[in-house]
Amino acid sequence: MTNPKSSEIAKKYIDLANKYGAHNYHPLEVVLTKGFGEWVWDIDGKKYLDMLSAYSAVNQGHCHPRLQKTLMDQSQKITLTSRAFHNDQMGLWLKQITEMCGMDMALPMNTGAEAVETAIKIARKWGYVVKKIPLNSAEIIVCDHNFHGRTSTIVSFSSEPQYKQEFGPFCGGFKAVPFGDADALEKAITPNTVGFLFEPIQGEAGIIVPHDGYLSQVSSICKKHNILCIADEIQTGMGRTGKLFAHQYEDCHPDVLILGKALGGAFYPISAVVGSKDVIGVLKPGDHGSTFGGNSLACALSQTAMSITIEEDLPQRSFKLGEKFRKALSILPKHVVKEVRGKGLLNAIEIQKEAGHGRFYSELLQERGILAKETHDVTVRFAPPLIMQDSSLDFAIKTILEVFSKTQDEWSKK
Ligand SMILES: *Cc1c(COP(=O)(O)O)cnc(C)c1O
Repeated sequence: MTNPKSSEIAKKYIDLANKYGAHNYHPLEVVLTKGFGEWVWDIDGKKYLDMLSAYSAVNQGHCHPRLQKTLMDQSQKITLTSRAFHNDQMGLWLKQITEMCGMDMALPMNTGAEAVETAIKIARKWGYVVKKIPLNSAEIIVCDHNFHGRTSTIVSFSSEPQYKQEFGPFCGGFKAVPFGDADALEKAITPNTVGFLFEPIQGEAGIIVPHDGYLSQVSSICKKHNILCIADEIQTGMGRTGKLFAHQYEDCHPDVLILGKALGGAFYPISAVVGSKDVIGVLKPGDHGSTFGGNSLACALSQTAMSITIEEDLPQRSFKLGEKFRKALSILPKHVVKEVRGKGLLNAIEIQKEAGHGRFYSELLQERGILAKETHDVTVRFAPPLIMQDSSLDFAIKTILEVFSKTQDEWSKK
């Protein structure tokens, strides 16, 4: 099913992926070979503005020179030691990440899903040893339409049928409430509840921004009932939404913060669970582990990724560019675009149902030099690297205005 517009050479790579790879994604027909800053190039030399940023893992831009230097330097010293020994990067990384988050302790993992799994284990153990609830009775409250990863425990509490169907049996101990409904959260709490796990803005669900005040309410409800407030900022953190962390828009104080994606600066996967001493401290030697967690290379790169985020003032840049982006797109015709929403540079265009499919618009954007991807068919997400130039945002705005000016039918008649 190769797009006739792909070149012979691009077809070759796509065919290899289709023949030898599991078909668990449906990528656009573009084969990337090079990237710098907010730009990427395909195998035929065509240049695109990257408006997906690997689902917000490329906040610092592609191949940032400071990260390149860290990669070169660290790879010439040592890359992996395992946690059986100490290394001279992990301690420095722990100090930097806990200071950045205003927390006491952190635990390094590799991927986002692993960090979520780790947070679930920590919350449960905290419930048994600190809150003293009966063993094996811990409940964690989550939100409808959540996305926290793809492991079998995590999909157990997904509300997306495709993420679950044919992957059971599932793991118990989770209860879902509507996102944005603080009363529903409070009503769902029982004596066995140990925590509330949520995304401050729901990313994969289609950039769902809760009403103002929700995050403050969540925080105070968790405190009142002595349950852990667990914010999954894997996608929304590291400046993506116009603050360093999205929960900072409100009077919200998570007990546990989960980070990933841009924490590794797009060079290396690294994730983290960050929290207070009485929570992270419940883990004892042998309770949990990871062969690659806390490796020297990941910790070195992540220190540089955090420094870039702060020193290049990426949260503020994201805030300013995001305001400009949404304001510029507010003139899109209502018969095509139902809503433009988001915070900072985490944005979405929701298309009117009659106006066509997200995939169609993603392909129009691709032809015009912008890479973006639909989520849930009617929504196209726009999340460019936060380091992007003003002129690149102007190009994005101009192109998006052109593409979303007509419905799919109107485009096809042309
Ligand atoms: C991407 C994401 C995850 C999962 O991260 P992986 O690195 O893909 O395992 C978890 N939570 C949120 C909010 C995410 O956006």
